[in-house]
Amino acid sequence: MKNTAREDYRIVITPRRLGDLGWMSISDRMASSDIERDTRERCEEMAEQVKRHVDNVGSVEVQFTEVHTCSHCSLAWEELTAEEAAEPGCRQDEHSVEGEPVCCDKAIDEFRTERGIPAVQWGGTQ
Ligand SMILES: [Zn+2]
Repeated sequence: MKNTAREDYRIVITPRRLGDLGWMSISDRMASSDIERDTRERCEEMAEQVKRHVDNVGSVEVQFTEVHTCSHCSLAWEELTAEEAAEPGCRQDEHSVEGEPVCCDKAIDEFRTERGIPAVQWGGTQ
């Protein structure tokens, strides 16, 4: 039979949203000009407080999930895989390489300019 043991216990603390003021709630954007920075600072402060005031703490660490978006179009950042770069149905043209972004023309142009790859002829010859 299968025995189940619980191990590796942790306590997960989630910070309050920046716009949750306790007595009223507004959007995070109204409460902060830089949500990412302010949230990170809040978490680091909370981690310090836990270390100082809570008994039997082994370690405290601020963890997060990285979300990659395009600075031009704000969509999720996606890149061609090596297989996709070789696949005529996925790539822009024969100069497409692994790592080329797929979200928008500006991101692709920027990627190619940085690497000296011939630009995509958007909309064909004009
Ligand atoms: Zn983009």
